[in-house]
This record gives sequence, C-alpha cells and structure tokens, in this order.
Amino acid sequence: MNKDFPKVGPTVTMFVPYDCNNACPFCVNKKEYRDTSEFNLDRCYKALDLMNRVFPHNDIVLTGGEPLAELEALQDILDHIEPGHHIYINTTLPLGDRSVEEVAEILNRYEDRISCINVSRHLKHYVKECPDEIFDLLKFRHRINCVVFEDAKDPATKEKLIAFLDRFKGHEIQLRANYSYLTLENVFDTENDNLFKLISEICEYKYPLEHERFRTGFVFEREGSKITYHKTLPFAKVDGVVGDIIIRQTGKIFDDWNEYGHELNVNDLVELKYE
Ligand code: SF4
Repeated sequence: MNKDFPKVGPTVTMFVPYDCNNACPFCVNKKEYRDTSEFNLDRCYKALDLMNRVFPHNDIVLTGGEPLAELEALQDILDHIEPGHHIYINTTLPLGDRSVEEVAEILNRYEDRISCINVSRHLKHYVKECPDEIFDLLKFRHRINCVVFEDAKDPATKEKLIAFLDRFKGHEIQLRANYSYLTLENVFDTENDNLFKLISEICEYKYPLEHERFRTGFVFEREGSKITYHKTLPFAKVDGVVGDIIIRQTGKIFDDWNEYGHELNVNDLVELKYE
C-alpha cells in the first residue's frame, strides 16, 4: 500500500482504552486511566468511523496508556482503520510475555499501514525496556522519542545525552522539550532555550522545521543519525484553530488534549478551523 499521500485535515489522536501499567512521574495521561468504568472500544470505533467520514486522509495517532499493552486489541484497531490514513503509534514497546521476534513479527504484519512507531526512551529508565535489537527487526519507520526532563545546564545531562545518542546511533531520534514548561511565549524561542543550546553543542544544526501554531522543531545530525528537537505546547487549540482532535477512551470526541479540551459536537466539526 502506498503511504506517500498528502495529509488532509487535523490529526486524530485516539487514546486506547487500556492502560500501560507504568507510573512515569511526568505522565500527563495517567489520570485519564484511573477510572476505566466508561471506557468502551466499540464507541471508539464509532468515533473513528465518524472522523474517517469527515477526514478520510488525515493522520491517526494511537497513544495511551499503552497501545501495545493488549496486542490483540491493537491489531483489531489497526484492522478497523480504513486505508488512506497515515498511522502513528506512540509506545514504550512492551513485550509482555512475548519475545522480541514475536512482537516484531506481529507489528510487521502492518508494515504497509503503520507510517511510524514512536518509541519512548528517556535518559533515565522509567519503564522496563525491551532489548534494542527489536529496532533492527521492524520493517517500517521507527523513531526514538526522548523527553529531556533533566536540567540542560547540568554537565551530567550532557554526558547522559551523549550516551543516549550513542546508544541509538543510526536510528532516527526525536528529542523533546519538557512540554509542561512550554507556553505560547517561549515555544518558538531558542535564545533562552538551554536544551537547544546543549543539542547544538553536541550535534550539527541543519535547519528549522516549519512553525505550526502549537509546535516547532529543529533538525540536527550526529554521526549519521538524524536528530530532531521538538517543542510542543501541552495544548493544540490556539486562537480557535484546532491542531489535534482527540478520541478519548470513552469514545467521546474532544477538540484538544486532556483538561484543555471540550467535547465536540457535529456543528463544531462544520464550524471549527483546522490546522
Ligand atoms: S508509559 Fe506512557 S502512558 Fe504509561 S505512565 Fe509512562 S508516560 Fe504515562
């Protein structure tokens, strides 16, 4: 299947209705998973179907929780999504009781559907990490996603970051600023951004990515690895323009992340401006 078609419409991000069983201290999604009584995969499917009618060629992001915590459910979701969407999966890549080879084989069944899998790995290990050899087994694009929570001015952070970049040499790496510190005022600023300065010290700066209303990014290179640095606001609706539509675990559709979002109704879908 050709994955090289233009994206049209806002990204639809679906929070899978099952948890990750981790407890990362920085998690902004965890509280959504405390009460699972209203979670409903069938309603999520109805929401996906509705979104597909309105935006048949947009990006769909599966996040959580942990999309790979229940591999059967994940396959069911992937089977349910109509062709014509770029599918991205945010995951910590848990194996459960399967081997690296088994999990890679299951994911590779969807190599024609998955545009990219974003795998969370941080400077400190917050979750049980599977062996890195899985990245060599995946037949589709993967990106190592690292939120740098550490103080960028601390020399220990520089050391840890270099070790991290060495560990994933040859893979695409996305470094991310701590979004809880980002505001509309500082999201595009690099002058006072210590993490930007640190990355510039240890990598070769290449070019900026396009400014969007709620995020920006910069491309670097280090020893053959493409490294991007992303700054993303913890919300995606700016000046009434919607960047991300969220399908919650209940199947209800919202116009922004977590506590920032409001439930969408059908008229909103006609009236809202999208990016
Ligand atoms: S694995 Fe992801 S969803 Fe789970 S606690 Fe950590 S950050 Fe949150």
